Amino acid sequence: MRLMMDVEIGRRRLLRGAVMTGVGLLGASAAMGATPEQRLAFRNIHTNETFDARFFGANGWDSQGLAELNHGLRDWRNNQSTSMDRELLVLLSRLRDRLGVAPQAKIDLISGYRSPVTNAALRERGGAHTGVATKSQHMLGKATDIRMPGVGLDRLHLAALSLKAGGVGYYPHDGFVHVDTGRVRAW
Ligand SMILES: [Zn+2]
Repeated sequence: MRLMMDVEIGRRRLLRGAVMTGVGLLGASAAMGATPEQRLAFRNIHTNETFDARFFGANGWDSQGLAELNHGLRDWRNNQSTSMDRELLVLLSRLRDRLGVAPQAKIDLISGYRSPVTNAALRERGGAHTGVATKSQHMLGKATDIRMPGVGLDRLHLAALSLKAGGVGYYPHDGFVHVDTGRVRAW
C-alpha cells in the first residue's frame, strides 16, 4: 500500500514536471522504475465518434495510441490531422484526474486540431466563435475545446486555471473550456 502511494505521488510529480519543462516522460519513468499508464477517451460532439487510447505505457510513449489520438482529434470538417502536442495530452489527463473523472470516461470534444482553412472559415463566420484567433493554438495541435460529462463547466474552468500549464479560455455560452499548451494566460 505504502509503495503504491509512493508510486502514485511520484507519477503526479512526474506529470507535473513533464508539463512544466516539456521533458519526456520516458526517461524519468525508467529511472523511477514506475510504469505510469496514461490514456484519454473522447466523444466528438459533432460526429458522435468516440475513441479511447493509451498514449503512454510501460515502454514509454505508445505510438499506436498517439496515432489514434491524432486521428480522433483531427479537423473533423475536412479530416486533416496533425501530430498533437504530447504535453497537451498529459495536461488533459491531469485535468481529468484532478476532477476525479475516470480515465475511461469520455471527454466531450468540441474542437481539437483545426486546419488553416477551417480556422479561417470560423474566423470569417464570427458569431459565437469570435474567440477564434489568427494564430490559433488549435492550428498547432496544441489546443482542445472540451467539457466533461458530470462536471460543471465552472469547475472544469477553475481546475484548468489551477494547473497553470497554458492558456485557458472560458466560453460558458458555448458550453466549453479551451485549454492549450501555449504560454500561461486566461480569457
Ligand atoms: Zn479553443
